[in-house]
Amino acid sequence: MAINTAGQKFFRELPPKQIAPLKAANLAPGTIPTSITRMEKPSASVAENHRPVPILTYHSLDDSGSVTSVAPADFVQHMRSLARRGFTGISLSELLDAWENKTTLPARPVVLTFDDGFANLLPHAAPLLSELKFRATLFVVSGRCGQTNDWPDQAPSIPRLPLLTWDELAQLAPLGWEIGAHTVTHRPLTSLSADEARREILESKTTIEQKLSRAVTTFAYPFGLMNAASRDCVRENFRAGCSVEFGTAAPPHDRSALPRLDVYYLRSPAIFNWFGTSAGGAYLVLRGAGRLLKTRLQGAPQ
Ligand SMILES: [Zn+2]
Repeated sequence: MAINTAGQKFFRELPPKQIAPLKAANLAPGTIPTSITRMEKPSASVAENHRPVPILTYHSLDDSGSVTSVAPADFVQHMRSLARRGFTGISLSELLDAWENKTTLPARPVVLTFDDGFANLLPHAAPLLSELKFRATLFVVSGRCGQTNDWPDQAPSIPRLPLLTWDELAQLAPLGWEIGAHTVTHRPLTSLSADEARREILESKTTIEQKLSRAVTTFAYPFGLMNAASRDCVRENFRAGCSVEFGTAAPPHDRSALPRLDVYYLRSPAIFNWFGTSAGGAYLVLRGAGRLLKTRLQGAPQ
């Protein structure tokens, strides 16, 4: 019973901070707590648009078994599991549009994000997402397109693999892939001066916009590392930034550092099938708590 309660809270219950805007939207008294726990079908209600939504983080789709890799065969099972259970993969901007009441969320939304822009997404993710009518957000390192992920501070255990070229990115964009920024060189922003960090953030945005002729409105911090100056820059120049803080995103969160769920914890297809269930929610709460404890003990993000 305790596990079910934790899981339901994690995935389905509305944070108290959201009640005020919902009341402002003139929802009937008493509808908020019950409707949030039962919402399974699409509707244009403000309450549905303001639900907490999981943002999944993928990096590379390869068979190396590294901490940033998901095997292509497992990824197929992840996506088919989502589709089978009524989830719809959406981009981060689509979530922001819904939070701003410009559009309506699908019945079971999940934001799909891919960091770094690995070339293996083209064969292993693009056709499958198109088939399932899922969309996604890809965070690109603008100074590395067509090169590899062999950047400073990259762990030795991470395989060095090709990154998408500008031509390949131009193929993805019309297929429903939002292209976001992930700095120019993937250096940790906290190791840079405020001016250098600002240049990394803004130049990545303008370069991608020029190369792909489309607006870049979302950002992800390399290694999840940020400070006040970098967050302020992201807040001023993007609709949202993604952190590696472990959790489900909700409208009250600071948009400059939305939490995500790293798929590392869900890589096994058997465990991924729990995603979106009460048991899966409890599992992620426990993994999140363990991750937080580990971070505090070691003094650095994992
Ligand atoms: Zn990255």
